[in-house]
Amino acid sequence: MERRASSPAGRARRPSLHVSLGTNMTTKTARSADVVSKIGGHVDALRRELVVFLQKLVQLPSLPGYEQKAQYFIADKLRSLGLVVDVVASELDELKDHPAFCDDGVPFRDRLNVVGRWRGSGKLPKSGIPRSLILNGHIDVVPTGSETLWSESPWSGAIREGQLYGRGSCDMKAGVTASIFALETLQSMGFRPAADVLLESVIGEESGGVGTLTTIVKGFKADAAIITEPTRLHLCPVQSGALTFRVKVAGRAMHACMKPYGVSAIEKFFLVLQSVQELERKRHIEYKNPLYEDPNNIAPVNFGTIRAGEWPSTVPDELIVEGRFGVLPGESTSAAREAMAAALASAAANDPWLKDHRPQLEWFEGQFESGQTAQDAPIVRTISEIHAKVFGSAPVVQGVTYGSDLRLFTNHGDTPAVLYGPGNIFDAHTVNEHVDLEEVLAATKVLAYIVTQWCGGDFE
Ligand SMILES: [Zn+2]
Repeated sequence: MERRASSPAGRARRPSLHVSLGTNMTTKTARSADVVSKIGGHVDALRRELVVFLQKLVQLPSLPGYEQKAQYFIADKLRSLGLVVDVVASELDELKDHPAFCDDGVPFRDRLNVVGRWRGSGKLPKSGIPRSLILNGHIDVVPTGSETLWSESPWSGAIREGQLYGRGSCDMKAGVTASIFALETLQSMGFRPAADVLLESVIGEESGGVGTLTTIVKGFKADAAIITEPTRLHLCPVQSGALTFRVKVAGRAMHACMKPYGVSAIEKFFLVLQSVQELERKRHIEYKNPLYEDPNNIAPVNFGTIRAGEWPSTVPDELIVEGRFGVLPGESTSAAREAMAAALASAAANDPWLKDHRPQLEWFEGQFESGQTAQDAPIVRTISEIHAKVFGSAPVVQGVTYGSDLRLFTNHGDTPAVLYGPGNIFDAHTVNEHVDLEEVLAATKVLAYIVTQWCGGDFE
């Protein structure tokens, strides 16, 4: 995922596993407490296997375009669990006309996605109808940056003080591992779901989502999807979007000694910058969404690169900036683009030079929509209830400011989806990226319990 900017207050303690046994407990609660504690015991029994699996997965450097080994490793594991495994390649021809397709520039060669299907029994559960579930996670990781800054190799999978280190450990091989071991746990308990559980390990999430888009285009579908991104087990049904843009501002070159007779593109850009900052401020004042902890940081606009001028004593005649324009949840990408264009037009309208030399705006590369699942959607309610049962208090429900594959499920897959997984986004994409193993274990337990409650099914 894109790195999220948020307050350090986000570093709350991870939830501890908790099953409350109050005096007014009904038989049903007693039974669920029993199941939760049994799941806990079975996950603990698999702990070593789980940690070794995550370690090996981190040791496979699944950088964009090089995810194959990690994907075969996942596919083998899913086959060993008896799942029906499809290895599905992302093909440009199948995706290029899809409205959500972003070409991330990675060659379409062996871009493999893995989908494991645990077939449901189809038996009608005692309460309600069987509902199928997708557990989705991305296997691609972002580059390591300078390896010398890391305490050890980014592909070490080293464990120190309960933290497992390495690129992708937090974002999001821990989440993929928790999903897989949730299924293994249930199998070790003799559980068979009533409806299908699909485990999807996809590529290309960090650069635009071609992997999940492939699974949608190929027709893999369920009644809900959980993407186990590192949310610290906060429940996130809403994500902002992000659009990459480029703006060119023209000036007129002149020897610096004659500056008043030239036009500085840098100084003209300053007007553009002010106008866009004003727009960003207004958008946040007008938009209200209680799921975001910082009302001024829901759809930030960032100017990320800037190039201008070629000589200190020449008035610069061109400036090019590239940046990222946030899309508000519920806002269409076209509305967001229009808002940005209007801010440039307003800057131009108030300046005689810019009026005749309008800043040029173009949109390129990542164009991520926002996405949302209603807070009263069954999957959101189910996870909230189960989280409360397992950890003793309701989950933090919040929106996230980064782009993720959630939008593909909600906007193009007709599937309600949430982000909910182990790891802290503050530790993603960083030097010495790491994940807390206790939290991975906790996530495995809660995911296993979610499968039993969402999909229905029987223990032998
Ligand atoms: Zn991620």
